[in-house]
Amino acid sequence: MKNIPEYFGKLVFDDRVMKSMLSAKVYASLKRTIDEDAPLDISIANAVADAMKEWATKNGATHYTHWFQPLTGVTAEKHDSFISPSPDGGVIMEFSGKELIKGEPDASSFPSGGLRATFEARGYTAWDPTSYAFIKGNTLCIPTAFCSYGGEALDKKTPLLRSMEALNRQALRILKLFGHDDVKYVRCEVGPEQEYFLIDRKLYDQRRDLIFTGRTLFGAMPPKGQEMDDHYFGAIKPRVAEYMEDLNEELWKLGIYAKTEHNEVAPAQHELAPIYSTTNIATDHNQLTMEIMQKVAAKHGLVCLLHEKPFAGVNGSGKHNNWSISTDTGINLLKPGDTPYENAQFLLFLCAVIKAVDDYQDLLRLAVATAGNDHRLGANEAPPAIISMFLGDELDAVLDAIENDRPYAGSEKKTLTLGVDVLPDFARDTTDRNRTSPFAFTGNKFEFRSVGSSNSIACANIMLNAAVAESLRIYADRLEAAEDFEATLNGMIKKTIKDHRRIIFNGNGYDESWVREAEARGLCNYRTTPDCMPHLLDDKNVEMLTRHGIYSRAELESRCEIMLENYCKTVKIEANAMVDMARKQILPAVEKYAASVAEAAASKRAVVPTLTCGYESKLVSKLSLLIDQIAEKTDVLEVAIMNLKDESIKNIIDESCAIRDTVLCAMSELRAVADEAETLTAEEFWPFPTYGDLLFGVR
Ligand code: ADP
Ligand code: MG
Repeated sequence: MKNIPEYFGKLVFDDRVMKSMLSAKVYASLKRTIDEDAPLDISIANAVADAMKEWATKNGATHYTHWFQPLTGVTAEKHDSFISPSPDGGVIMEFSGKELIKGEPDASSFPSGGLRATFEARGYTAWDPTSYAFIKGNTLCIPTAFCSYGGEALDKKTPLLRSMEALNRQALRILKLFGHDDVKYVRCEVGPEQEYFLIDRKLYDQRRDLIFTGRTLFGAMPPKGQEMDDHYFGAIKPRVAEYMEDLNEELWKLGIYAKTEHNEVAPAQHELAPIYSTTNIATDHNQLTMEIMQKVAAKHGLVCLLHEKPFAGVNGSGKHNNWSISTDTGINLLKPGDTPYENAQFLLFLCAVIKAVDDYQDLLRLAVATAGNDHRLGANEAPPAIISMFLGDELDAVLDAIENDRPYAGSEKKTLTLGVDVLPDFARDTTDRNRTSPFAFTGNKFEFRSVGSSNSIACANIMLNAAVAESLRIYADRLEAAEDFEATLNGMIKKTIKDHRRIIFNGNGYDESWVREAEARGLCNYRTTPDCMPHLLDDKNVEMLTRHGIYSRAELESRCEIMLENYCKTVKIEANAMVDMARKQILPAVEKYAASVAEAAASKRAVVPTLTCGYESKLVSKLSLLIDQIAEKTDVLEVAIMNLKDESIKNIIDESCAIRDTVLCAMSELRAVADEAETLTAEEFWPFPTYGDLLFGVR
């Protein structure tokens, strides 16, 4: 078999390549830029560009591209070849530092939410040296940030990098107070677990809904769904195993640490988890992973569905965002330590996260809001739309003891200055997992489970980093000014626990009673994208995000606009696809079947005139009624779509609310009658593959 260490990262211009191809001086200078954000000199950029070109062309690349993440949610690239004419009529391969550092793609077709007038089409891409360049196909891809002529971010990477810097700044202030003068920087790290569905390409090709929208808009439940739970961690089918093997190989070549893979709860659902890395790199890698997953699937006659809810009535797909913060000296700041001193520091960082999640529930919720994810959050399966935290019994008891000035009963160790006994030495997962919590502590990291499977993880991490940076800023302000450090620290920890207790919930997040309790606790419950997105512009949020330099107000306004626009466009495409399928496929099919049943009855009666043909009569009546209902509901949906053009709808918020209240309802009413018709229609008449075919079609 192939030797993994030999080919791992072979398509990446990584540290090993840099070390071997750059002079010691250039390498050291680039490292300083990567690790410590030191500015980069153009002579260094020239040397790096030259080495990149040498390496890339040797590995088969003919083109290069500035690879970026516009607000469409997918990655974008524009390819330029390395060739440059030489005086003798031939070409030489060229790539300069200038071309490496900056690109100028025509930005006019990327969403800018009003940030850029149409006449100002220019946008800039700027090299992000902290994420390695790599080769995809025949192209050297250079990870870049993307901004407008005026410097506003038009992408997800820029604010992500800003949020990481904000967190770094504030965490360093705290660490200084705890005497960690040796720490140079603090990074947040993420391991995103990616869920997906695999279905057969031939079946996919027959479903217009999947082709146009990535999810099924019709489909009755098959006799068997996921009720047996026999798929979860079940044996992987040979065809899927081959896919996973191929996928791993492609990802490893790109230096992506694909680590675990298993079947998920729903039939045809699987998961891939990488080993965690710095958030920026994890984000780039996750974008690449999603792309490669789809590419490799095509090679295997499969389609990889990344939609949050490809099938109604079957678990949707998410992306568990495992998040932690650690220092360059190797300390995980969310790891409860063994000594009281470490414990106090851990407790402070823990409190910073608790406060952040409570104060900025709305930001965390809206960071994961899309039309697709709305079907998942708030449905009876994945984390609910209400943001709460799970800490586990042990940690909860510690916080309880601190809040109430009681000794902590669970430990026999020394007493901490906070008045409680030292935390027990946490083994990973000392308490049972709570799989229903949107935000769970899992031993040395938090797992944010609300992110949608097709979402970039950037937005969730931007908000998370920002909110935690803000808690730390407030703590650092107080502690730096404190006369009695310990008393202030203890007081702050206690106050945080008291003030933010409401966000901690260890019960069942799927339970109806939780909705009522959360409401009583004053927690937000934004079920849909139009409910939460406008809160991006709430004063408290704008203030916090601009204070840390993560977004300007103009950037926030544009993002709100783009996200809502995305929501509206997505649902409108779905609604139109439904009308199309209902009129052109479903109605004719049911009509044909009803006619054939009627014909069967008529031909039987032709032989035996006294026959009542009760079965046929009843069926034809039922089908006729359903035909009328499908036709009627299709008209209603069409009118709902038309009404979006009404004058009373003045802006994108109005439109998104109208879509939520009218179009989506009309869609589900149409679906209900069409699905009923499916259950009554003979298989050979039904115009496209059923749920049973799709979910159990890959063997
Ligand atoms: P589970 O399904 O039980 O949540 P997995 O092993 O599938 O666990 O995924 C755990 C994810 O968390 C992996 O991507 C792993 O690399 C990541 N992870 C582990 N430790 C940390 C950490 N300290 N910070 C961030 N992510 C982490
Ligand atoms: Mg998980």
